[in-house]
Amino acid sequence: MAQYRRKKNKDLTKKIAEERIVILLALAEDNFKTHPDRTKRYVGLARTISMRSRVRLTRDQKRRICKHCYSWLVPGNNCRIRLKGSTVLTACHVCGKMSYYPYYERPDAEKETEGQKELKRNTEAEIKVETKTGIEAEIKAGIEAKTEIETETEN
Ligand SMILES: [Zn+2]
Repeated sequence: MAQYRRKKNKDLTKKIAEERIVILLALAEDNFKTHPDRTKRYVGLARTISMRSRVRLTRDQKRRICKHCYSWLVPGNNCRIRLKGSTVLTACHVCGKMSYYPYYERPDAEKETEGQKELKRNTEAEIKVETKTGIEAEIKAGIEAKTEIETETEN
């Protein structure tokens, strides 16, 4: 019984920790412009909670935090992101250090060649034209039928 309760509490702790991390990082984002001095504190608290409760930061969360100085990074504002070969380079303007993240090309199955894209575009355009003419023909037929009915009633 005691064991069960402990497990249940552990899950709950993790859930609460996740929520708090999300809230703190949202606060960091909100206060970045108005109170930039607060962001480091929010990030610090989020990290502390993450470590203490052993909840990992998600990939997106991790990449918005400088690995070296724990600043909240806003691309185009206090960090520069560039792609080089198969790595993402993030340069932090607060501490001037770089972070490297690997990135991979999508598997071949998902990749579309330029020729396939062109074909897809053409077929899509054709379908559009077809549907348009189809609708026009329908409207025309409708008008014709209507006029026919009208002429019939007149007679
Ligand atoms: Zn930094």
